[in-house]
Amino acid sequence: MRRLLPQPSLRRKVVVGYYAVAALVAAASAFSFGELKALEDKMMLAERMSELFDATLEVRRFERNYFLHRQEADRAEASRYVAQARGLLDANRSVLLAVETPARLAEYRDLLERYDAQFAGAAADRAPALSEPQVRALGKDLVAIAEEMAGAERRLVQSSLARFRGFLVVFIGASVAFIVAIGQGLSRSVAAPLKELETSVDAISAGKRGRLYLRSRDREVVAVIEAFNHMLKELELRQKHLTRSEKLASLGTMLSGVAHELNNPLSNISTSCQILLEELGELDAAAQKEMLDQIDQQTGRARNIVRSLLDFTREREFRREWAPLRPLVEQTIGFLRGEVPAKVSIKLDIPEDVGVFADRQRLQQALLNLIKNALEALGGQGEIALSARAVVAAEGDALGDASCDLVGSAVDIVVADDGPGIAPEALPRIFDPFFTTKDVGKGMGLGLFIVYEIVEQHEGCIAVESKRGHGTAFRIRLPAERPET
Ligand code: ADP
Repeated sequence: MRRLLPQPSLRRKVVVGYYAVAALVAAASAFSFGELKALEDKMMLAERMSELFDATLEVRRFERNYFLHRQEADRAEASRYVAQARGLLDANRSVLLAVETPARLAEYRDLLERYDAQFAGAAADRAPALSEPQVRALGKDLVAIAEEMAGAERRLVQSSLARFRGFLVVFIGASVAFIVAIGQGLSRSVAAPLKELETSVDAISAGKRGRLYLRSRDREVVAVIEAFNHMLKELELRQKHLTRSEKLASLGTMLSGVAHELNNPLSNISTSCQILLEELGELDAAAQKEMLDQIDQQTGRARNIVRSLLDFTREREFRREWAPLRPLVEQTIGFLRGEVPAKVSIKLDIPEDVGVFADRQRLQQALLNLIKNALEALGGQGEIALSARAVVAAEGDALGDASCDLVGSAVDIVVADDGPGIAPEALPRIFDPFFTTKDVGKGMGLGLFIVYEIVEQHEGCIAVESKRGHGTAFRIRLPAERPET
């Protein structure tokens, strides 16, 4: 049964709302028109009534003149006005019945008849049938009834006006309430799903939700959800392809680096073995020992390469938390205590309240690599300065000469040394895996590559400033707080 119901839609709601308002206005206009028409009729009637009343007053005026001057012309005039009043009464009888009882109208008509027959309309050569006081009493009754009828009509018009005014007030109030209710209903239908959409999209971008879900069943909203979810699915697919090809590409780089790195010690071992085999009987013990030492050294080098690769590739859970930075850095320096030469000083400028939102172990690994590089660059004497500042990163901010996408509360960590610096031609390559300028067996070129990977994992940025002979400074920007979701 439910399937038979049409699917709700925003458009339908807007159209229904529009027609509802239009119907309300049309109904109110028709009612107002009817009321105005009725009022117009009543005012016409009131005009007739006042004419009737005026005619009655005229009758009385000529009646008074007649009794003052005994002029037949006055009686004739009075009779003319009586005829006028009777004419008005007969012509408007049906409308007058709306305000007066038939008995009342009959009484007035009867009075007019009597007044005319026995005074005003009597032949000019005959004296009135009634005495002056009787005529005056009749005339007085006529005026009293006419006045009452005119007054009733006036009151009717006034009450109609008051009713109309009341209707207008109620109508305006109801219209305002109705329009506000419709407006609110519509805005709820539109604004609520939009708000929900915003929170859902935020949750999706924060990785908390995979698909968009909104409660609204409106056709337009459902279409947006479907289109959005379809887009998400497509993006996921594309990202999977991309990640796969990126992984393959970096695996390729890595493998060629590893092959190259392993090739050197292996060919050294192989050469030493060949010499030993060829000249086994001829070489003296010292030379043989030297060969064997060579083999041992090169095996150790190969083992080191494999070990650091294993270290790097070992899967460990990446877990970030807020941590005060200073103790974390102090502990890292502690790991290196035995390796810091006497003439190398390590200075710390990190305020107590600066904190970082990071995986402690990985951040320490990155710092360790940077400090080790600085120690090696100083070659026995100099200064390493570790500093940090809390910053509020804005969109478009740069870190050193590189751009940085990190926005919001962050911390800038600087590891600087006053060593020989990095040659300009080496600078663009220092973060590449297996790039090293150190002697064979000393550097493997994975230190900065690992630092870079760790900073990336933290959604941070890294920049380097270095000039031959003027020291080196690595600047890292990391989030200081859990990213808002
Ligand atoms: P490795 O230390 O094994 O050589 P890294 O990736 O850590 O590998 O460093 C790559 C290269 O960057 C180093 O060989 C060195 O030339 C240069 N480098 C790194 N840090 C410094 C520094 N503090 N001062 C001078 N050169 C540095």
